[in-house]
Amino acid sequence: MDDAVSRARGAHRLPAPPSALRGRVVVAAVAAGAFAAAAAAPTLSALGSSDSDGVTPLANAQDASASFALGGDAPTGAPELLPAAHYTDASAEVRKLTDSEQITQAREDREAALAKASQEEASRPKTCLPAHGTFTSGFGARWGTTHYGIDIANSMDTPIYAASDGTVIDAGPASGFGLWVRIQLDDGTIQVYGHMDTFSVTEGQKVKCGQQIAKMGARGQATGVHLHFEVWKNGVTKIDPRPWLAQRGVYV
Ligand SMILES: [Zn+2]
Repeated sequence: MDDAVSRARGAHRLPAPPSALRGRVVVAAVAAGAFAAAAAAPTLSALGSSDSDGVTPLANAQDASASFALGGDAPTGAPELLPAAHYTDASAEVRKLTDSEQITQAREDREAALAKASQEEASRPKTCLPAHGTFTSGFGARWGTTHYGIDIANSMDTPIYAASDGTVIDAGPASGFGLWVRIQLDDGTIQVYGHMDTFSVTEGQKVKCGQQIAKMGARGQATGVHLHFEVWKNGVTKIDPRPWLAQRGVYV
C-alpha cells in the first residue's frame, strides 16, 4: 500500500532536478534574456526542495520571463536590471551614431578632396611658357627663307615644357630639327619643339601644360642652344606662335 502510494506520487511529481539540469535551466534563461535569468532565480531556489509542485523549471522560467516582458508582475529584484538593459540599447545607439558620424565625415572629406582637385584642375593654366630664355628669332622671312617658328635661347639642358595639354604624336629624329617632339592638342593644333638635346616623352603619351618634355640643345640646323617652337593651326597651317601664345596669356 505504501509502495503504491509512493509510485502514484512519483508519477505526478517531478524529482528535484540535479544540479546539472539547474545549470542548463540557467543557461537557457540567460539565452532567453537577462530578465529570464533574474526571473528564474527565485524558482530555482524553490527547486532545491524535493517537495516542489508539478511545474517544470524551464516552463516556470519561461512563464516568468514572458510575464515580465509583457510588463506583468515582475519577480522581486528584477526591475533593477531595467537600467542595464536600457544602457545596452543606448550603447548600441551611440555606437551607430558614432559610426554614422565617421561615415559622414569620411564622405565629406572625399567630397572636399574632389572639390579641391576640381578647383585645381579648373584653375590650372591651359597654356604655358615652353621654355625660359631669350627670344632670339621670330616667325617669318629670314635669310631668304621662311622661319616657321620662334626661337628661345638659353643654356644647355634648360627644361622644355609642354605649352598645352595634348598627346605626343612624334618624339625622335627629324630632318633640320635634329630631334623633335610634336604634341597635338584636342582642337587639332600641333606644336613642334625642335633642336632639343634629349627628350623624355614617348609617342602616344598624354602630357599636361607645363610638364617637362625635353632639355634644350643645339641639334640639327642650329647656330646655338635654343628651342625652336612652332604652332600648326588645325594641324596643318604654320602660324606665328607668339600671338597664339599671347592670346592665351603667355608672353615670350
Ligand atoms: Zn627656329
